[in-house]
Amino acid sequence: MKNASGTTILRNGQVIDGTGADPIPNGIVVVQDGRLLFVGVERDLPDLPSAAAEIDAGGGTIMPGLVEAHFHPTYFNVAALEDLDIKYPVEYVTLLAANNARLALECGYTSARSGGSLFNIDVWLKKAIDEGLSPGPKLAASGREICGAGGLMDWNPEFRKIGMEGLILLINGPDEARSAVRKLVKDGVEWVKTYPTGDAAAPDANDHHTLCMTYDEMHAVVQTAHNHQMKVTGHCRATAGIKNALLAGYDTLEHGTFIDDETLDLLLERDVPVVPALYFEQASIEHGPEFGMPQAVIDGHQETLEGGAESARRILAAGGRLGMGGDYGFAWNPHGDYAKELEFFVSYVGLNPLDVITCATKTGAEILGRGGETGTLETDKLADVLIVDGDVVNDIAILQDSSRFIAVMQNGHIRSGQLA
Ligand SMILES: [Zn+2]
Repeated sequence: MKNASGTTILRNGQVIDGTGADPIPNGIVVVQDGRLLFVGVERDLPDLPSAAAEIDAGGGTIMPGLVEAHFHPTYFNVAALEDLDIKYPVEYVTLLAANNARLALECGYTSARSGGSLFNIDVWLKKAIDEGLSPGPKLAASGREICGAGGLMDWNPEFRKIGMEGLILLINGPDEARSAVRKLVKDGVEWVKTYPTGDAAAPDANDHHTLCMTYDEMHAVVQTAHNHQMKVTGHCRATAGIKNALLAGYDTLEHGTFIDDETLDLLLERDVPVVPALYFEQASIEHGPEFGMPQAVIDGHQETLEGGAESARRILAAGGRLGMGGDYGFAWNPHGDYAKELEFFVSYVGLNPLDVITCATKTGAEILGRGGETGTLETDKLADVLIVDGDVVNDIAILQDSSRFIAVMQNGHIRSGQLA
């Protein structure tokens, strides 16, 4: 992505830098040639070119652009999981994905890590975004996902002979695990998304206490991926699956639902970030019935919500890292609702808003592998900035209302908001 040119002064708002530091009241941020030249207060402001532009934050908030750490650009608000890989051809899903990416950017998300994509679309969407052809968050792509045969994502019955090729590479054993990762190497992904465990969504044979991959398969994935400088994450609910992932060398965990003392120690030892994606559970419980979700599934989501919230509290209290990402793209949890995750972590999980903002900015960028260049407002980083009309610390729900965004900035370009 090319940087903007010129100098812009952002003033008249509290500055939240994303590091967890207290907001700077009436702070100033200076953007020069797409990077942050200065973050501080008026009296320390360096000499600037007289032609510098100004943006008035109207007494609101100047903060880093948000990072969605578990983004499914190709999930088109599906109500039936089995629609995912067979309902539409790749051409139409690509257009839907581009639309979801544009929406995420309008919602203040300047970066996102894909949590799995149909047909490798996110790899090419990322390229189109980077080249300025299509608006969206800067992406870390993961392409198709890997799951053990018969596991959570292997839902098409054998007699249909259609497999899951559009979404999932199904494996039996470490050799096939290596082979699947090698396909992804050629596809050009950065992240390998796997399914070590089941989920409340599949109570019959692959519930949230069931394993969907063996340790040997997971270890083979990690060894092969790391050899090719790719990172590995996994859908981990059951405690044994979390333990397998940590011992196998996973780089992050999705959900991390049932953490015990032993897995918490392992997690902290390796400083592995976790993306709990808890609002998805709440949305499933609240809206599942409207979509015919069976009671057993809703009960399972209640259990994973409570377990996941407790684990999230323990991880953060022990000094671990959490990313904010919400598995959006289901009918009951649609694209565009991304920032509901943030409010939910304040109202239900009980975190303070500033910590949640750090998770949604700094930690998110670290999860993407871009912590050195984005995620906080610090000198020399890229100007990925969100300017909001309102005090987001006092009311984090404001972040759900994109009509209150004065500007959404990527590399110094105003991409969305009132000034776009
Ligand atoms: Zn997901």
